[in-house]
Amino acid sequence: MIENVVEFFKNLPPKQCTTCGEKIDEQHECYGSKCDSCNNL
Ligand SMILES: [Zn+2]
Repeated sequence: MIENVVEFFKNLPPKQCTTCGEKIDEQHECYGSKCDSCNNL
């Protein structure tokens, strides 16, 4: 199942927050797929 998740994110051109849709800076790799705002919730 993890492989499917990896493939899913590999096919996403720009990084986007999965919660609000905001673009995520490339440097925030450790945050996964959420922007700063959603990570602070
Ligand atoms: Zn967000």
